[in-house]
Amino acid sequence: MWKKFFHPIIDKEKLKVVCDLDLEKYLDNLGKLQAVKEGEISCYFCEDTITLENIFCFFPLSGDVKFVCDKGECKLKLSRFIDKDKISL
Ligand SMILES: [Zn+2]
Repeated sequence: MWKKFFHPIIDKEKLKVVCDLDLEKYLDNLGKLQAVKEGEISCYFCEDTITLENIFCFFPLSGDVKFVCDKGECKLKLSRFIDKDKISL
């Protein structure tokens, strides 16, 4: 049902990788699965709606979980974001 690729999940200390099969479970643990399924979550950078198909990664920030879609520009922004040490890997 989902494309077979890996989703990096940025944690405070390290980059975790969760495969598609674990993604739904992981989102459920975060309490975000229903919100994603209902289209209530937006990409942190471009504000497009996040779905189970276009989700690229998510990371904790300011006590919440931020999501990033799989657009090239958003991946680029994410890498710059990490470079600025807003997130330490
Ligand atoms: Zn985006």
